[in-house]
Amino acid sequence: MLKTYKKLKLVNKTRKKTQTIINVNGSKNKIQIGGENLAIIAGPCAVESEKQLDKIAKELSKLGVKILRGGAYKPRTSPYDFQGLEEKGLKILKKVATKYDMTTVTEIMDPRDVKLVSSYTDILQIGARNMQNFPLLKEVGHTKKTVILKRGMGSTIEEFLSAAEYILAEGNPNVILCERGIRTFEDSARNTLSLATIPTVKQLSHLPIIVDPSHGTGEIDLIIPMSKAGIACGADGLMIEVHTDPRHALSDGEQSLLPKEFAKLMKEIAPIVEAVNRKF
Ligand code: PEP
Ligand code: MN
Repeated sequence: MLKTYKKLKLVNKTRKKTQTIINVNGSKNKIQIGGENLAIIAGPCAVESEKQLDKIAKELSKLGVKILRGGAYKPRTSPYDFQGLEEKGLKILKKVATKYDMTTVTEIMDPRDVKLVSSYTDILQIGARNMQNFPLLKEVGHTKKTVILKRGMGSTIEEFLSAAEYILAEGNPNVILCERGIRTFEDSARNTLSLATIPTVKQLSHLPIIVDPSHGTGEIDLIIPMSKAGIACGADGLMIEVHTDPRHALSDGEQSLLPKEFAKLMKEIAPIVEAVNRKF
């Protein structure tokens, strides 16, 4: 028997029995996450230039992707690595997404940026490193923006759900959880994708949960198998890093799929999506 975490009043399934379907506010595409459609979110780790993002978005939209990701504020381990284009990156993301009629996701790190970032993007992403940035959780909780909350790499499921509870407790119910791998003793790949988290969260909470096999493994060769596995165990969507020139990407090139590899992923997941009675 799984624990029930009674303190988690709002995210808990004991309070709200039906699965939450998030209607992404502000997007013309009428995107729903958590319903019968499997959400596919793809794009580069970081917005590097208009030319770079345009090339990637063009390929992705040809493959039917409706949600474009791209970071403008990057939480990098080293202060000497590319930190993101900030507002210039947000402008590029919005411009390119408008051109291809796509909904956008971008990361936010600082509570002071909520207004600014929200004015450019449809979905706010809170990354693994900020899962317990409580002022940030509270600030996004004061909006009605859709939020993708990624699991901290050293967080338990209770801590993960408690972080979501912070956002709901401030009045924003539009939270999508994202399993993106945790740190374990295993060092053959960047992270260990905790697939059991998906059915566990499904049993405990009514919130949608997507899976990010790009950060979850950090290995190109593991992304397709883990995408299939994630869908098979109930994930409501995938977040995948794609780049047209991964070798020269300014961040996470080593885990970014080429558009043709991403096309292969889309083809290979199709029978699994059908098997779990979902559409995409
Ligand atoms: C990202 O999505 O590029 C990212 C930094 O993810 P995470 O917070 O999961 O490491
Ligand atoms: Mn990344």
